[in-house]
Amino acid sequence: MLSADQDVPKWLIKSCVRYLEMFRLHEWEIRLVLQDTPGNDENTEGICMSDPSTMTARIEISRAVIQDKVKAKQTVFHEVLHLILAPLQDTQYRLIELLEYDGQKRDLYGKWFDDLVERVIRRLENSLYSELNG
Ligand SMILES: [Zn+2]
Repeated sequence: MLSADQDVPKWLIKSCVRYLEMFRLHEWEIRLVLQDTPGNDENTEGICMSDPSTMTARIEISRAVIQDKVKAKQTVFHEVLHLILAPLQDTQYRLIELLEYDGQKRDLYGKWFDDLVERVIRRLENSLYSELNG
């Protein structure tokens, strides 16, 4: 189920619902919000924070990005794809916690895996999104 803040444009909510239905992600409880700097990073257009143990997620989209409808819809699509890999990413975080405490190593493994997930999602995004709108 999706809920959104009042300032989220209807067309963006509609797109988000469409993508969630496309991947049958009905079991998730999702909040869609606009943020000036998603993830406190000025260069981030969107972020998806999820917890597979409670099946809740928060998708933040940059206020600057919604000025460009096409880009905003694609950003939401990208963040929805993150939900598909959320259980994998969650397991990875748990595995890293089990590592013998070595902050540097944890950060490094975390970054490797995050980069890998990002590459897979970019590939899915680039192929599926153009197919969807072609
Ligand atoms: Zn991403």
